[in-house]
Amino acid sequence: MERDIKSLISQMTLEEKASLCSGLDNWHTKPIERLGIPSIRMSDGPHGLRKEDENSEEEILKNSIPSTCFPTAATTACSWDRELIKQLGKALAEECQAEEVDIILGPAINIKRSPLCGRNFEYFSEDPYLSGQLATAYIQAVQSLGVGTSLKHYAANNQEHRRFTIDEIIDERTLREIYLTNFEGPVKEGNPWTVMCSYNRINGTLASENRYTLTDILRNEWGFEGFVVSDWGAVNERVEAIKAGLDLEMPSSYGIGDKKIVEAVKRGELDEKILDQTVERLLKIIFKAIENRKENATYNKEEHHKLARKIATESIVLLKNQDNILPLKKEGTIAIIGGFAKNPRYQGGGSSHVNPTKLDNALEEIEKIVQGKANVLYEEGYSLETDEMNQELIEKAKETAKKSDVAIIFAGLPERYESEGYDRTHMKMPENHNKLIEEVTKVQPNTIVVLSNGSPVEMPWVDKVKGIIESYLGGQAGAGAVADILFGEVNPSGKLAETFPKKLSHNPSYLNFPGEGNKVEYREGVFVGYRYYDKKEIEPLFPFGYGLSYTTFEYTDITVDKKEITDKETIEVKVKVKNTGKVKGKEIVQLYVKDIESTLNRPEKELKGFEKIELEPGEEKTVTFTLDKRAFAYYNTEIKDWHVESGEFEILVGRSSKDIELKETVKLNSTVTIKKKYDRNSTIGDLMEDPTGAQIIDELIQKLSKVGGMFSQDDHKSNEMVLAMIKYMPLRGLINFGKGQFTEEMLEEIHEKVNK
Ligand code: BGC
Repeated sequence: MERDIKSLISQMTLEEKASLCSGLDNWHTKPIERLGIPSIRMSDGPHGLRKEDENSEEEILKNSIPSTCFPTAATTACSWDRELIKQLGKALAEECQAEEVDIILGPAINIKRSPLCGRNFEYFSEDPYLSGQLATAYIQAVQSLGVGTSLKHYAANNQEHRRFTIDEIIDERTLREIYLTNFEGPVKEGNPWTVMCSYNRINGTLASENRYTLTDILRNEWGFEGFVVSDWGAVNERVEAIKAGLDLEMPSSYGIGDKKIVEAVKRGELDEKILDQTVERLLKIIFKAIENRKENATYNKEEHHKLARKIATESIVLLKNQDNILPLKKEGTIAIIGGFAKNPRYQGGGSSHVNPTKLDNALEEIEKIVQGKANVLYEEGYSLETDEMNQELIEKAKETAKKSDVAIIFAGLPERYESEGYDRTHMKMPENHNKLIEEVTKVQPNTIVVLSNGSPVEMPWVDKVKGIIESYLGGQAGAGAVADILFGEVNPSGKLAETFPKKLSHNPSYLNFPGEGNKVEYREGVFVGYRYYDKKEIEPLFPFGYGLSYTTFEYTDITVDKKEITDKETIEVKVKVKNTGKVKGKEIVQLYVKDIESTLNRPEKELKGFEKIELEPGEEKTVTFTLDKRAFAYYNTEIKDWHVESGEFEILVGRSSKDIELKETVKLNSTVTIKKKYDRNSTIGDLMEDPTGAQIIDELIQKLSKVGGMFSQDDHKSNEMVLAMIKYMPLRGLINFGKGQFTEEMLEEIHEKVNK
């Protein structure tokens, strides 16, 4: 195939090559009929297919053909289930094949730096490892059925505010450890056909013109072989972009981008070899897509609807269950309150908005499950159109709640709160939702809140309700999933993929989000999400990794196969987990690593492994994790590589980031020595850390003690104190404080000697 493509390129005119580098329209690449080069189609993505129906009269974001609206990534991430994400990926690929879509524009995996980001509902997590693992599963599954993916938005697209131009100032270590690590795993292990570059600038350079991220890192370091597509409208200067490594400009620029490329080659500003490389990358994927098309493909809408429900059920997080109020019995009178129970909030706004094949609502799903065994009443409670309180609706809700045995309030964030294109400005739920909950709890002690939202909310009523179910945005069948959890048809097993802070001001990005003017500085550094709350000892409302079950699990017997390794070896960690309750359940076993002592400011712990297991009552399973160098490493900006500091590390295993059950200590030995460079501004303390340096300093003390002043000949105690005092003095200080015993040449000799 490779040879064919090369010879094809040799037959292409300059204009034809350039034409391939931008879209035909909103969704297709350009065909070149003369040479038999076909056109392929891309569509959004990520949690359902949004294929625009060109014949539809509907407005642009609502005119797509019906497809299954699966739960959004904020929801599915809480499943922590690679296999489940694979089922999702396969179903998405089937729908793409049926609709003749070659590449789905997903997964979207940007880090949740602030709970306010308008697109958090489309993203997985605040943690790069969890995001990366789930994205890899998604990519592998979609592509296994011959449909391409577009891993997006590369990179650091963490806010919508001024998203096209915002300059994100991110230090190198933070960029590597947090905002690139989430992409690295999926690129290396998932091999996505395409990567979509983001709109924003990274340290001054637009992501679409960023050679460092697009070529140096993505291709040269990580080995990416597909093509880079621009986010829609992310190209600024077409020639700069192609030089940086951006292959396809989307959507069409109506000939303008192509013309710029042609002229730049003619003027000698752009080497035609670069254009050829781009064309080769594009052609490889175009032909791959064509070869993988399945004629007359169809999918079963009902089956996909069922799968959407299953995925939502496995992802719902039970946040509170006081007095084991849940699961509910199918008896007595149950008050269902809140407009969301009839008109579900199930997805977010913007380019990911799917036109669902059908839509369930909680009221009907609950009625189906209780089958007349309980009396189900409904009250609207609040208006969906406004945040303002409606006293009459609240009074009616209270009356109904009072005469019931239990009240279930459906509340959260209305659709207008969360969308692509803008961020939230606060973390509160609408006033009419909060007030409704407060008022109902005054008359009904058995109140349960079911939340629908794409990102965390403040919960001023948290202590007043007995149960809280976080259903996030559950997709078209999410309502049935909520009903399954409420009545124990399924045991909840989701855990939070992000921290819920008590209030917005606790969030690490609070003082630097969304930035000033066109610039935002990521001053919290690597301390994103739980890395920050842990370090600052700020009690979150609900921590990362947290979620309850209707059963209980016991953790025992942590073992490691080696207590000491080099950074070239791996360690195997085993733990036993047992279901000690009465019902079958699933547990997400989490493994974190802590560097006990570091010369750097490192997080208290970082997620490095997780497994979801299913256990019958009384059943016990052994869970195995394998840890390699990366589990212990930080990004060293001096050597521009991942590095492990020799020393002890703690392996922490538990049910959440805050609930660690088992610990083991291991020792790591680095095989890499980082040679320090010394000069006249190196401190005495730095020099003393080097064996040769320490010897030289010793000799200096002897020398200086002979002339009196700083050091004495026989008082070692006082010499030690002086040494501690001058620890931060640079070598050049010896000129001023060395009683005239030192010359510039002598200083040079000293640091040169240590450098050897
Ligand atoms: C979004 C992408 C999306 C593209 C095409 C952009 O505005 O940022 O996520 O894939 O549009 O709809």
